[in-house]
Amino acid sequence: MDEKFHEQAAALEQSRRDDGLSAARRALQGKGKARCEDCSEPIPRERRKAAPNAVRCIACQTIFEKRKGTYS
Ligand SMILES: [Zn+2]
Repeated sequence: MDEKFHEQAAALEQSRRDDGLSAARRALQGKGKARCEDCSEPIPRERRKAAPNAVRCIACQTIFEKRKGTYS
């Protein structure tokens, strides 16, 4: 085997490792969204850490829950 083959193999393995890493990172982030479903504002990292499945910012989630309470 020549050196070039080794280089390519190493590069391929590195990119595979990166893919696996970002997939794991996505899984860790849960089903939440980077941006609020209602107002499209970015959801703060702290909130996403506390509530990985959150799809709304705190303000919109509060309104959503109030509405839900009123109509259910
Ligand atoms: Zn919002």
